[in-house]
Amino acid sequence: MNAVASEEAGAAAVTLEELRKKMADFARERDWEQYHSPRNLLLALVGEVGELSEIFQWKGEVPKGLPGWEERETEHLGEELADVLLYLVRLSDMCGVDLGKAALHKIDLNARKYPAGPGCRPSKKGAHCSDDTGDRPDDCGDVVAAVHTNEIKKEHAS
Ligand SMILES: [Mg+2]
Repeated sequence: MNAVASEEAGAAAVTLEELRKKMADFARERDWEQYHSPRNLLLALVGEVGELSEIFQWKGEVPKGLPGWEERETEHLGEELADVLLYLVRLSDMCGVDLGKAALHKIDLNARKYPAGPGCRPSKKGAHCSDDTGDRPDDCGDVVAAVHTNEIKKEHAS
């Protein structure tokens, strides 16, 4: 296996725990633990989200797969996505939150809130579930809501 293939195989198997340990080692080896308070890490995370946003700024709607993007742009995107993930992992660690477990729990909560099926699809008027709980995607602020909002925008655009 060559170096690139080896790196790709390693990347495919990466876990949140591995990232957590690497970030902890990275901070300890540089004596940066003193700076890694939850507040500082949160602000660093927000800064990285800003850097990620700059990549998409002024581009208009971007299709899936980023067709037409240059290699250096997608490489830069990967770096900024990684910055966001790494600060999120470190922030979770410094807050004593198991990010993987929390994420699985949130997906479960979202699945219960938005049961799968034809009764819970976005409509032209907005995304209302068949049980008509009154929950609207823009009231929720979670990942599932963002997906619904995008689907609604697509419906209105077509
Ligand atoms: Mg960055």
